Amino acid sequence: MKHQDLAIKFYKEKGKKHDKALWAIRQKRDKAIKGVKEWEILRREASEIKDYVIENLKELIDEFIKNAKNEGVEVYFAKDAKEHNEIVLKLLKEINAKKIVKSKSMLTEECSLNEFLEKNEINVIDTDLGERIVQLRGEKPSHIVLPAIHTTKEDVAKILNETNTDPTYLTRKMRALLRKEFLSADAGISGANFLVANKGYAVVCTNEGNADLGAILPPLHIISVGIEKIIPNMKDLGLFLRMLARNATGQAITTYSTIFGKKDNGKRIIILVDNGRFERLNTKFKETLKCIRCSACLTTCPVFRRSGGHSYRYIIPGPIGSLLAPLKDKNEYNDLPFACTLCGSCEMVCPVKIPFSKQLREMRKYVTNENIMVKIAEKSMHSATMFKLFSKIIRLTPKPILEKTLNQWSQYRALPAIPKERFIK
Ligand code: SF4
Repeated sequence: MKHQDLAIKFYKEKGKKHDKALWAIRQKRDKAIKGVKEWEILRREASEIKDYVIENLKELIDEFIKNAKNEGVEVYFAKDAKEHNEIVLKLLKEINAKKIVKSKSMLTEECSLNEFLEKNEINVIDTDLGERIVQLRGEKPSHIVLPAIHTTKEDVAKILNETNTDPTYLTRKMRALLRKEFLSADAGISGANFLVANKGYAVVCTNEGNADLGAILPPLHIISVGIEKIIPNMKDLGLFLRMLARNATGQAITTYSTIFGKKDNGKRIIILVDNGRFERLNTKFKETLKCIRCSACLTTCPVFRRSGGHSYRYIIPGPIGSLLAPLKDKNEYNDLPFACTLCGSCEMVCPVKIPFSKQLREMRKYVTNENIMVKIAEKSMHSATMFKLFSKIIRLTPKPILEKTLNQWSQYRALPAIPKERFIK
């Protein structure tokens, strides 16, 4: 099913509640930002730092690798998802790992790591509360910061076989279950929000402390992270930490913001993953590499709020997902750039100033340039003879055939009757 059908289905079932919950978060975010008078200056600086990063990515990666190794951390580089998963498997096999605790990492979702490890008989326990809920429900996250925002407390009670639907009770029950898993895991895997190039540090931000338990309790901690997460130095880290949580959930800072270097009670390994990012640097969409995954563009989007994350069918939904998904598979996700009213709300809240309106319009061209009708129409606009010929063909083509050719456009709209004669004689 394409986005529109899934969106309509979701809206009928849960759309109003979902919209209300996310709008409350957007309002909390606005309030937090009003408390920082220099917010727009911070946005400009954050955007400039990220521009610098994408222009100097190769050099910053080299600097990070050198400093992380000096710090006592092993570093691997994976060119794609397959290579990443194989490195993780090799590292886990070396210690005969049977169970790992994983904290939230969109990168491991991107690489389908859970499925890969389960196939290789390694038990993966997601430890972020929302991630664990969707894992037990056999689903994917529907939001990059609030993975289970589409579920209700009744849904959570059901997966825990509970009749008590009190959220505090359910959270405590889940915490007790997860604590046992942390204590018996062979390794922990997490993502990272930032990699500080001039120190070789990885920075992980969570509200539950689950990444910290997974990093500290088991003897091996693997950090799987996309190369675009690099920032030049600690001063820049300060700026991004001020912005990330405020823009995501309206908090002053995430509850746990941990800087990881060498692991004192075991081994820490960082896997830097490319998986198409270097290639993206040479496209019109390189600015998507500036994203810090704060999720504000999802939370504010009127389409996302009403249609839910699963309607996008890609691991990263919402406006940023509508740019990233077609870069992964142009045909499969060619509907997503159109799941947008071009209202510009995402552009207004993005802390690194990704120019969404421009990028989404570009993406629409990118996914539709195969459409024969668009190609012919474009050509005909450049020549009066071609235009006359094209108009004639349109007038002579039976309406059902035209509707079929226009495909997505006409699926939800009635094609107006084509005039029998030309307007200009
Ligand atoms: S695109 Fe901007 S607003 Fe959206 S998640 Fe990334 S940083 Fe946040």
